[in-house]
Amino acid sequence: MTNLSDHFTLAEAAKSQLAERKGIDNTPPAAILPRLVRVASQILEPVRSHYRVPFSPSSWYRCPVLNAAVGSKGTSQHLAGRAVDFEVPGVANVDLARWCASNLTFDQLILEFYREGNPASGWVHCSIAKEGVGRGEVLTLTKDGVRPGLPPGLNQ
Ligand SMILES: [Zn+2]
Repeated sequence: MTNLSDHFTLAEAAKSQLAERKGIDNTPPAAILPRLVRVASQILEPVRSHYRVPFSPSSWYRCPVLNAAVGSKGTSQHLAGRAVDFEVPGVANVDLARWCASNLTFDQLILEFYREGNPASGWVHCSIAKEGVGRGEVLTLTKDGVRPGLPPGLNQ
């Protein structure tokens, strides 16, 4: 098992239930590995050490076939291994997004499909920049579209 960082592995970056169901080989190319290492150290490890709760990303690297199968755009940063989707058990996704927005260096942070009144709904998408510190763009995506910023937190 190849480790990308203290708590995250290459297997977790490649893991996808949809890829398994459809028989898609989602193994990241070697050129992607340095990006996965950066995502692990810049996004996932700080979250892990802040909340001190083990978690595994729900979606990380996506090969072109898998990215198309999930209905994602061809410009998705998941294709490049620069984006990761995750939740932390016991933490409302809106609070997780707000903590990430205030404490991480990222290109784009999106609270996706969170519904107010349902703390466990949705997930957090976070990406690193191709170069430099990135845009630090914070968005909320719902079934009605995308808007800037995040909803109010529950526990902050
Ligand atoms: Zn995502």
